[in-house]
Amino acid sequence: MTTLVVSGGTIVTMDPTRRVLTGDVVVEDGRITAVGQAGPATAAQAIDASGCLVIPGLVQAHVHTVQTLARGHADDLELLPWLRERIWPYEAALGPEDVEAAVELACAELLAGGTTAILDMGTVRHTDVVFEAARRAGIRATIGKCMMDAGDAVPQGLRETTRASLDESEALARRWHGAQGGRLRYGFAPRFVLSCTEGLLREVTHTARRMGCVLHTHASENPTECQVVRRERGGDNIDYLAGLGMAGADVVLAHCVWPSEAEKETLRRTQTSVVHCPSSNLKLASGIAPVVEYLARGIRVALGADGAPCNNELDGFLELRLAGLLHKPAGGPTALPARQAFELATLGGARALGLADEIGSLEVGKRGDLVVVDVDRLHVVPTADPYSMLVYAVRASDVRDVVVDGRVVVRGGELSTLDQGAVIARARAARQRIDGRL
Ligand SMILES: [Zn+2]
Repeated sequence: MTTLVVSGGTIVTMDPTRRVLTGDVVVEDGRITAVGQAGPATAAQAIDASGCLVIPGLVQAHVHTVQTLARGHADDLELLPWLRERIWPYEAALGPEDVEAAVELACAELLAGGTTAILDMGTVRHTDVVFEAARRAGIRATIGKCMMDAGDAVPQGLRETTRASLDESEALARRWHGAQGGRLRYGFAPRFVLSCTEGLLREVTHTARRMGCVLHTHASENPTECQVVRRERGGDNIDYLAGLGMAGADVVLAHCVWPSEAEKETLRRTQTSVVHCPSSNLKLASGIAPVVEYLARGIRVALGADGAPCNNELDGFLELRLAGLLHKPAGGPTALPARQAFELATLGGARALGLADEIGSLEVGKRGDLVVVDVDRLHVVPTADPYSMLVYAVRASDVRDVVVDGRVVVRGGELSTLDQGAVIARARAARQRIDGRL
């Protein structure tokens, strides 16, 4: 048995009564066995967290790790031209070694910044490479091959037939869903309505349900997208998907910035998860999702950084801070208070991934996914309410230690699963290769 003791920290448990305790967290063979009491004096592994916050690892329920090498190469565009002129040509130009470099860079940034679990939309090809990189990095990841069997201006390299897209997705799910003791899972990922035929959307919904996997797509991000969906498919985006069966507690919709009144009711009734991506929605000028209203209606909401080319960071704390600030001008100063924002980044994400019983809080029986945050920093001092510090002041660079599944993947700010210098060098080399092809 491998025992890890994280001792002496201020533990922000996020348990049902939201207890904040001082003491130890004990993780044995990947699961939490004690929270708050003194752990064993001798353990195989120990982290002294005195003076630090110990929090559940952040969950980002919408990211694109393959896009990381397009960071800074797709600025100042709106969604559809951003996709057609920059992102799709970039994804079409990726070889397997480029995908590996992009995903390693993303996982390194995510883990070092305190994000322990992601829902990741890959690209059309090389999905095994995405899984392999996530496996090596040690992150908890639900990943899906991006499905694209329709649409305007899709480059040849991303085009696929409906049958091939469905068959490859199912084969990947068989290979990877539940791998690494459940740390890796498959999430079926039709890109968005405008990239997918109705036949594909209908069938992938059945396949995902049959295999017990989540369904992950984008919906109602941009007004032009919503207009084209209405014109081509004869209905509003979220309701169109719901009509095909793609709504429910196993469905994750990124963005949902422009819902109709009826669609809000659909989201509530079906308990579909919405992923709020504040940086991305601001940078692509998409709008501001009605998150405060979603929460008041009882709609499930999680957070995500989306991809590096629309953010340009993958910093979960930055998304937390933005989410906490963005809704106040319209909703008043108490809109999305710090503790509620922190719930979205932990429990909300866990629920979106279908992992509410496994992660999202520090409780006995859950997986050992936790983060030690150093608050002895100029921009955090003095000590205040922990949620206030975490949402309004803490940055990714304040993360000191990160544990996933009981394994220490970041210690003293240093990645232990990946060589940071090598990751950066490979990312730069891959970007040069991509530039040569574009
Ligand atoms: Zn996205």
